[in-house]
Amino acid sequence: MNTPVAKKNKNYYIWTIGCQMNEADSRRLGSELESRGYSSVEQPEEADIVVLNTCVVRQQAEDKIFGRLGSVKTIKEKRPNLTVGLMGCMVGVREAPRLQKKFPFVDVFMPPSDTKPMLEFLDSQEFVDEALDAEAEAIQERYAIQDAEHLLPAEQRSNTILANVPVVLGCSHACTFCIIPYRRGRERSRPMDEILDESKKLVDQGVKEIMFLGQIVDRYGHDFNDGTELADLLIKANDISGVERIRFLTSHPNYMSDKLLDAVANLDKVCPHMEVPVQAGNNEVLANMRRGYTVEQFKELIDRIRGKIPDCTINTDIIVGFCGETHDQFMDTYNLMEEIKFDKVHMAKYSVRPRTVAARRMEDDVPEGEKAKRWKMLDVLQRGIQEEKNKTFQDKQVEILVEAYQKGSWRGRTPDNRLVFFKDDRDWLGKIANIQVEHTSPFSLVGKLVE
Ligand code: SAH
Repeated sequence: MNTPVAKKNKNYYIWTIGCQMNEADSRRLGSELESRGYSSVEQPEEADIVVLNTCVVRQQAEDKIFGRLGSVKTIKEKRPNLTVGLMGCMVGVREAPRLQKKFPFVDVFMPPSDTKPMLEFLDSQEFVDEALDAEAEAIQERYAIQDAEHLLPAEQRSNTILANVPVVLGCSHACTFCIIPYRRGRERSRPMDEILDESKKLVDQGVKEIMFLGQIVDRYGHDFNDGTELADLLIKANDISGVERIRFLTSHPNYMSDKLLDAVANLDKVCPHMEVPVQAGNNEVLANMRRGYTVEQFKELIDRIRGKIPDCTINTDIIVGFCGETHDQFMDTYNLMEEIKFDKVHMAKYSVRPRTVAARRMEDDVPEGEKAKRWKMLDVLQRGIQEEKNKTFQDKQVEILVEAYQKGSWRGRTPDNRLVFFKDDRDWLGKIANIQVEHTSPFSLVGKLVE
């Protein structure tokens, strides 16, 4: 039987921006291309396939893509045989026809988490022989579920310590500011066996820490309608031998069940680390955002988390300058941050996104300068909070999983996700190290090895 094999010495280049989900999608596409004989290269100029995996969550991200598309167009003009792929949230579930008109040099459009269009395109290029069609189809099926041997692209194998594994695709929540549901489609959970299988294979390839991903990861399993929830997945994943640590992101405040918190508290590999966006600290703004909870309910959740998991790291996302946000309403957010003292805050200035409810029905009425001012105030506040928090680790001993070598130091993280650096001549990649903290900053800890 003829097995379709890509022609030798073909290269691919994937440029990824945006969230961890995109990183996971790019990793998967890379591994699928490699199972067809392509190798990864560092420069788009050297590649036969160039893929841009895109993010449109804010205008800034979208602008970056336009720049990149310009450079790719130049390469394609010189080398018309180049295959150009556009993937991710810019493509979404139905933007392809519009984009095709705008960027005719793009050959393949891939929705988020869907690599099939590229594989089909390559098939159509390489398997013109009709007799092979049926077989090619069967192969696509297999690739669509993930290829067993090639979960990590070659250059990432045995040096990748942390890996993201998508567990919930899409989002059905429709917060008024957010474009994601329009681009990633409705919410659907991946079967648990598939997730566990993928995680095991990653661990077999050297991964030590798994990050489960979803726009609302704590809704994992809701669409199975059989009572399955994220906690059940964590319980099973905790049994995977060779996995050192498990994390998950992003949680929506409304779905963090006691069962989930108990799982985090009790399972030895699941880290005390939550990513739970509050977005704003004022009830009217939260209602305008259609978040589905009040500030009071959010605070209760924080108490519940801290009650069950003392010293749990709690990170959040905040948007400043959402439609109609007054100075006083913004100050409610400021005060909430001061009160809760998050460990880290991902802050963004509100950016109008096409088709969202806010874009259609609300006015983007906070001036850019005011948004920047509010952003800066929160940044200064949060920096101080992080400085204070990290200072409490001075002279203490912390346990880290070493994940990379960076500018002459080893870099790792504590279970509660604090960044730690230390120097040593030996190879610590993927190992657990005990570090005595000597210096602290708002962003990291630096220390020496405890032998
Ligand atoms: N699923 C997450 C959101 C993922 S998007 C949730 O439930 O909150 C990541 C972050 O980008 C969001 O938390 C939000 O803070 C920010 N964001 C999303 N849309 C935005 C917009 N239109 N303008 C500015 N920031 C935005």
